[in-house]
Amino acid sequence: MVLKRSIGALLRIRGWRSKDAGDDLRRTLSLLAATLDATADGILVVDRGGRITSYNRRFAELWGIPDEVLSTRDDEKALSFVLRQLSDPEAFISKVRELYAQPEASSQDVLHFRDGRTIDRFSMPQRVDGQIVGRVWSFRDVTEQRRLEQELAHQAFHDSLTGLANQALFRDRVHHALTRLSRRGAPLAVLFLDLDGFKNINDSLGHTAGDELLISMAERVQGCLRVTDTAARLGGDEFAVLLEDLTTEHEATVVAERIIVSLARPFRSAGREVVVGVSVGIAFGAVGISADQLLRNADLAMYTAKRHHPGGYQIFRSDMHTRALERLELEVDLRRGLGRGELEVAYQPIVTADGSDIAGVEALARWRHPTRGLLMPDSFIALAEETGLIRELGRQVLNRACHQAREWQRCGLGVDDLTVSVNLSPRQLYHDQIVDEVRQALVSSGLAPGCLTLEVTETAMMTDSQRAIGKLHELKALGVRLAVDDFGTGYSSLSYLERFPVDILKIDRAFVSPIGDGEGESSLASAIVSLARTMRLTAVAEGVETRQQAEVLAALGCDYAQGYFFWRPMDSARLRALLEARRTEDITVVGPPRI
Ligand code: C2E
Ligand code: CA
Ligand code: CA
Repeated sequence: MVLKRSIGALLRIRGWRSKDAGDDLRRTLSLLAATLDATADGILVVDRGGRITSYNRRFAELWGIPDEVLSTRDDEKALSFVLRQLSDPEAFISKVRELYAQPEASSQDVLHFRDGRTIDRFSMPQRVDGQIVGRVWSFRDVTEQRRLEQELAHQAFHDSLTGLANQALFRDRVHHALTRLSRRGAPLAVLFLDLDGFKNINDSLGHTAGDELLISMAERVQGCLRVTDTAARLGGDEFAVLLEDLTTEHEATVVAERIIVSLARPFRSAGREVVVGVSVGIAFGAVGISADQLLRNADLAMYTAKRHHPGGYQIFRSDMHTRALERLELEVDLRRGLGRGELEVAYQPIVTADGSDIAGVEALARWRHPTRGLLMPDSFIALAEETGLIRELGRQVLNRACHQAREWQRCGLGVDDLTVSVNLSPRQLYHDQIVDEVRQALVSSGLAPGCLTLEVTETAMMTDSQRAIGKLHELKALGVRLAVDDFGTGYSSLSYLERFPVDILKIDRAFVSPIGDGEGESSLASAIVSLARTMRLTAVAEGVETRQQAEVLAALGCDYAQGYFFWRPMDSARLRALLEARRTEDITVVGPPRI
C-alpha cells in the first residue's frame, strides 16, 4: 500500500523542484542530483505519506523498473515489479509498514532476490529543520561482496586440495554433534583414516601424483557416505568422517569396511597402477566427552589399527590410552636410557656348520631398564624405529661391537679374523649418514672392514629396492660384508637378490625349526642352501635349536649356523671366557658339545 503510493508520487515528482530557487540553490541542487545519479546505491526519498519525492537512476536499474512503467505512472505494475523479484515479498512489505509506523526509526536489513542477488537496504528519516518530513531508502547491491565473503569463509573451512571440510570445520561439526547427542541420544561416531604407504607413493611417483591420489581418495570416501555425514581432510594423508544419527553403533563399522574396500581399489596415475590401503580408527561420542577427546580417541584407535592390523579398523577402547601412555613413557625412558649408558650388547656366536669353531658373533641389543630389568629387543626395537631413536641406538651398538671385536682380536685370543655382525634397521639403512657412521666406527675401533658384517633384513631391502641397492653398494665399498637377514620371509625375487651386492644369506628360523618335524620338513632350507650356493653366497642358518637340525643343515652344505643348540647370546665377559676356552681347544666346557 505504502509503496504503491510512494511509487505513484515518484512518477509525479521525478526531478528536483527548483522552480523558485535562486542560482546558488539551483547549482547545489543540480550537483546533488548529479551525485545521486552517479552513486552506486539506489536511492529513493519519500514524504511522510509515503509519496515519492525523489529517486535516482540506480534505483530504477536495481529494481529493473522499465521506463515505460515509470512514465505511465503505473503504481500497481511498479510494485508488482518489486515484489515478484524478491524471495520473501511478505517480509519486505511488513518492514516497510513497520517503518512508516515509526517515523523516527532507522533500519538496515538484507533483501534476497530470486535471481540470486543480495541487496542491503538502509532506511532513515529525512529531516528539515529538525522536523521529519519523510524517509530516505537506499539499496546497495552486495552480491559480489557476499560471494567473495562466502568463498573466503569456504576457504577458511575447507581443504583446498580435496574440497573436504578442514580440521577447524570438522572439529566444529563434531562439537555441535556432541551437543545434539545429549538431546537426541542417537549414536554418533568419528572415523579417523590414515592411508598406508602414502609416503612411498609420494616419494616414488612425485607430488602431483600424490595430490591426484589424495583427491581420488577423498572422492571415494565421500562416495561411501550419506549426505548428512561430514568428511574432512585433517592434513597430509589423514582423513576423518563424522557419522551422526546412527541407528546402531554397528553401522559405523559397516561404513568403515565400505571405506576400506573402496580405497583398496587400485588407483591409476600416469599409466601406473598403485594400491594404497587405509587404517581406520572408530570412536563413539558420549555425553560429557569433548570434540578434542573424541578425535584423540579415534586417532588412538587408528594408531592401534595401523600397528596391529594395517588396512583394517579398530574401535577405540579406554585401555588404548593406557597403552599409548606406556609407550610414551617407554620412549621417554629409552631416550634417557640411551644417554645414560643403559644400552648393552649381547653376543651370540656364529659357528661353523659342524659346531667345531666360532667364526664370528652377532651383536644383539639389550636394554638394562632401571626398573623393569633387562629388556629384549622385541620390546624396544620397533619403538626405537618408529621414533627415530634407532639411529642413536644403532650407533651405540655399532661402535661397541666394533671396539669389542677389535679388543678380542688384540688380546691374543687367537681370533684375528673373528667377525662381528651388526643389525641395521630400515631407518638406519636409508639414512644419509649411515656410510659415514660405519666408516667412523671402523676407523675409531681399528677393526678391519672385512671383519664387520652388516645385517639388513630382506624386507628392509625391498622397501625401496632402488635406494637400497645404492646404499648397499656404498657400504660395500667400505670393505664390509653384507648379509640378508631373515631370508625367505620377505618377497624378494631372485632377480632382485642378484642386484643386491650381498655376501651372506641368513636363513630365517622359520625354515630351520620345521627340520625334525616330519616329511618335507627340510625341503625349503635345502632350497635356500642350494640357492646360496648357486649365487656364491655364504649360507648361515639361524635359530638352530636341536642336534638334528644342526646335522641336517651341515649335511645340506650350509656354511655356518647360529642358535641355542650351540650358544645363546651372552654378555661380553662370558664370550671372552668362551674365546679363551676355544684357544685351549676346550669350548665344550662353556657350551654344548660340538657335533
Ligand atoms: P635377528 O637379527 O634375527 O636376531 C636373531 C634373534 O634370534 C635374536 O633375538 C637371538 O637371540 C634369537 N635366537 C638366536 N638363536 C635362537 C634359537 O635357537 N632359537 C630362538 N627361538 N631364537 C634364537 P633377539 O636378541 O631377541 O633379537 C631380536 C631381533 O631384534 C633381532 O633379530 C633383530 O632384528 C633385532 N635387533 C637386535 N639387536 C638389534 C640392533 O642392535 N639393531 C637393530 N636394528 N635390530 C636389532
Ligand atoms: Ca640379525
Ligand atoms: Ca635374523
